[in-house]
Amino acid sequence: MNLFALLDQAAARFGDRGAVYCGERRVVTWAGLRERALRLAGSLQGAPGTRIAVASENRPEIVELMFGIWAAEFVYVPINYKLHPREMADIVVDSGAAQVFASPKIAARLDLDVPVETVGGESYEQWFRTEPAAAPDTDPAALAWLFYTSGTTGRSKGAMLSHRNLMAMTVAHLADFDAPDQDCSLVHGAPMSHGSGLYIPPYVLRGARQVIPESGAFDPGEFLDLCEHHPGCSAFLAPTMVQRLVATGRDRPRHLRTVVYGGGPMYVDSLKKAMTAFGPIFTQLYGQGEAPMTITGLRRADHLCADDAILGSVGYARSGVDVAVVREDGTPAAIGEIGEIVCCGDVVMSGYWNNPAATAATLRGGWLHTGDMGSFDDRGYLTLRDRSKDVVISGGSNIYPREVEEVLIEHPGVTEACVVGAPDEEWGEVVVAFIVGTADPAELDAHLLTRIARFKRPKRYEFLDELPKNSYGKVLKRALREQLAQ
Ligand code: AMP
Repeated sequence: MNLFALLDQAAARFGDRGAVYCGERRVVTWAGLRERALRLAGSLQGAPGTRIAVASENRPEIVELMFGIWAAEFVYVPINYKLHPREMADIVVDSGAAQVFASPKIAARLDLDVPVETVGGESYEQWFRTEPAAAPDTDPAALAWLFYTSGTTGRSKGAMLSHRNLMAMTVAHLADFDAPDQDCSLVHGAPMSHGSGLYIPPYVLRGARQVIPESGAFDPGEFLDLCEHHPGCSAFLAPTMVQRLVATGRDRPRHLRTVVYGGGPMYVDSLKKAMTAFGPIFTQLYGQGEAPMTITGLRRADHLCADDAILGSVGYARSGVDVAVVREDGTPAAIGEIGEIVCCGDVVMSGYWNNPAATAATLRGGWLHTGDMGSFDDRGYLTLRDRSKDVVISGGSNIYPREVEEVLIEHPGVTEACVVGAPDEEWGEVVVAFIVGTADPAELDAHLLTRIARFKRPKRYEFLDELPKNSYGKVLKRALREQLAQ
């Protein structure tokens, strides 16, 4: 089976209904989208498995490129448009892409040895003038998507995702999180090269509109306006995007139905503010490129409880995924004991592209080792602590930065907080908190003492105008540690 089958089904059932919208404007119907994807497949030259890179801010053409590449039995390699041209070139070289499709803005900045087509222009349309290819019949284990990880812990690696992996993700999304139909919409606030793009398949299967903001990026006002206009809106948003929606002070738009957030920590205090502003429309995912969007989830109903332990958790295992917490020696951790989170199931990647060493280290004993630390409670809720290398070990005690950050962020004088360990002769490491906000250290100390153990308090506070983030909006703890080392 090939993911193109999802579009085939939508075209058969909803042929003349709108499939892709740019802002409020309808760009193409389901039948039209299917035909364009098959024409593109007819134009693409190469053997099955050829990699095609797409580097673009959010644009309507991304949907036809994705399905056209699959229809050709090629591999889709999206590149985050916020990366530096050199980082983009690294991905093109690492993936061995034979062709790049880039938006006008990005094409102008690329200097590559492989052909680059500018998306949207007259020459781009030539790709759609050939005879449509036949609908593909593909081994589900064939590669569909090379997902380059965000590289918060080092150089970006290409997680190999097959048609089967992405079908498992699609089914789990429809089973656990959202049940859209042809009168619904998926609004792309987050980058389509990653989180938001991975949600395209489930919504295509159900014939829900793909809505791409005209700005091509996340603008809270524009996003909320689109959710007033299009029916039954769902979106995947990073936690910081949710906070930016709340900061507009606007009410929930009448058609905003579901927000799935994740990809980084959502602090309980921020989540409560978001629920006060927009109501119980939230669902949390915990996943990573290696198990796309699908390890655990905190369902909408779980958000209705008044239990901070549940709101601060990442929920429980997703449908079709087995999740465990293990000790360093690989044995299962007890309830409440912190260990590494591992998972297995059809959603888990087959390995990293051209990187057998990283594959062997990550896929051990049939389990994906996530590098995230966490613990289960007796109800099956998983609480994520931190990535193993972010844990601070001070005087022999493990301190989980997330726990300290959760409390710091509750203080009205703190907008953002990030906690890291700094080397220290006496303690091995000490806790340092980087703060964006107006609170002073004495106030913060007093606040922390009412909530967490004394030894977890930062020994130092550093005040910044903003936290360093990578192009996915994830805080770069590595950069903060380097700053301390200097
Ligand atoms: P990426 O592969 O770039 O999507 O990054 C995945 C990593 O983001 C995970 O391994 C976690 O460390 C983090 N992450 C994903 N979802 C969540 C979540 N719901 N809460 C906290 N961190 C998360």
